[in-house]
Amino acid sequence: MANNKKQYRKNPGLNLIELEATTSSCSACGTENAIDWLGDMKYPHEAVVPNHGDGRWIPVSVPVKCSNCMLDYHHNIPIIDRDGTWGLYGDEAGRIVEFNGKRIHFFCLTLIGLHRSKHELIKSKLNKFKLDARPDLAPETWTHHFTEIWSDSGPERRFAFPGVAEKINYGQRFAKMIKDLSPELVCFNFSSAIVLGDARKDNASAIKTQKEDLFKQALLATLDTMRINKKGVIWHFDNIKDSTSGERTEGWALECFLGLQYTRLFTYLAAGIYIPEPKFMIPGSHYLLEVADFISFCIARDFLKISQGKAGEIPSARLGKIYCYRIMEDGQPDYAFEMGSFFLKRYFPVFK
Ligand SMILES: [Zn+2]
Repeated sequence: MANNKKQYRKNPGLNLIELEATTSSCSACGTENAIDWLGDMKYPHEAVVPNHGDGRWIPVSVPVKCSNCMLDYHHNIPIIDRDGTWGLYGDEAGRIVEFNGKRIHFFCLTLIGLHRSKHELIKSKLNKFKLDARPDLAPETWTHHFTEIWSDSGPERRFAFPGVAEKINYGQRFAKMIKDLSPELVCFNFSSAIVLGDARKDNASAIKTQKEDLFKQALLATLDTMRINKKGVIWHFDNIKDSTSGERTEGWALECFLGLQYTRLFTYLAAGIYIPEPKFMIPGSHYLLEVADFISFCIARDFLKISQGKAGEIPSARLGKIYCYRIMEDGQPDYAFEMGSFFLKRYFPVFK
């Protein structure tokens, strides 16, 4: 296989509780063997296009070595029929905050999906918002990045908001649009917060690991959720910055995806369907990326405001309940379906 030489990055080392007790019966001697769900396989799980070019061979089993008779055999995984595929659209945000004398790097990744019955509605609503913000431009010709609106001020300002109050009002209305799209709009937010040290070099490496882990968790968790709901998934991301070089490159993210494909867990989560590698898009080139950008902004801003003991101007609670996931200090995941602002408050006791 040509792919076994591709560079890849290790999986994040988290397993599903349901799999921890799963054993596999040896086809020759009947011994019950543990399955190494997270260890690297020799080759990645990849759908192979057959020579005649029709369809794809999808891996539906994982290799196991019998601990008794040493036979190498295959353990079949449950196959789940899917009744559709969802596109998920993701964008990130980060902040460095000071809290109790510590410097904390907060990073989050929002992934959203919208039922197709609402796509036209959100497009027309978004265009109205964009016309409010830039009445001088056709809405399709520019990308809505809320950070640019938020930081726009002075005589050179480009957006139609004379002051902070008008921006807050605009942001609150934008948040309400998102909330009103529930339940057809599904929103996941993945986040983590790490304490930075004094050495710049160490921090750059820690932030890089933080982002990669979060990205991998986001892929696995959304793949699992979609599997349970009998959906396939195609991920779309705003081109994410490489934290070391600052260059916009998708290389590291694809290496993360490949790293996941080396695990038996990935084969289990794919459950018999083709899972294409994530697509990386021109920033803001899809309206759902513009919505994901806004949600990540609200969550990261909330984290900052909570650290200052203040109320946020556009609290993420206004977005309605979202699927919040975080990676805690000990590497364990924590998740809840609730208001983002409430979820974020739970970060702070450990930094005291
Ligand atoms: Zn055996």
